[in-house]
Amino acid sequence: MRALGGDILVLASHNSGKLREIKALLEPFGISARPVSDFSSIEPDETGTSFAENARIKAHAAAAASGLPALSDDSGLAVDALDGAPGVYTADWAETGNGRDFAMAMGKVNAQLEGMNAPHPRTARFCCTLCVAWPDGHDEIFEGQVHGQLVWPMRGSHGFGYDPVFVAVGETETFGEMDPDRKHAMSHRADAFAKLKARLLAR
Ligand code: IMP
Repeated sequence: MRALGGDILVLASHNSGKLREIKALLEPFGISARPVSDFSSIEPDETGTSFAENARIKAHAAAAASGLPALSDDSGLAVDALDGAPGVYTADWAETGNGRDFAMAMGKVNAQLEGMNAPHPRTARFCCTLCVAWPDGHDEIFEGQVHGQLVWPMRGSHGFGYDPVFVAVGETETFGEMDPDRKHAMSHRADAFAKLKARLLAR
């Protein structure tokens, strides 16, 4: 396992929700996070069929563009009754041709579950794969999950993406209702980040 070798990480994302959460996770370690948009406006096509493949594509593109180690996050929602969909296509389900509409995407998930009369609880998990890539082509992968169930209608305005319909195991509030610090302590991103921290940031 390679040490980070510096205190700057380029964040290979253009998603403001993810950037906010990852910056907050890195701050306590004295790592300054710079968005890849400081170096390049090109977003690589996410052509992979797994979270890890897409995370690698994004991290290597950002490391090559910046000449610095880069961290990517590929994440999504896997719904058990939908055989793991939307999965790697979670962001795509929100595409409208004119930007992303997550209320519409959450409605689509709920409509599919209703259409098949899926039993309750409608179990699902958020998955997060982090990839750190170095400009020389080396990379490391860290995977995290949080299990829970989907609720309807949507509740709460915190967070981003599908947060208003997801209730983690043992909780009553959706991620959209929950205090953001509480979400950050239990999320799929926190789980993956704890593994990254143990391997790359231990001081
Ligand atoms: P991608 O990793 O850029 O392909 O996008 C993953 C998509 O999954 C995001 O656009 C969000 O809609 C969703 N997602 C990932 N993490 C979260 C989360 O913490 N809360 C809610 N939705 C999330």
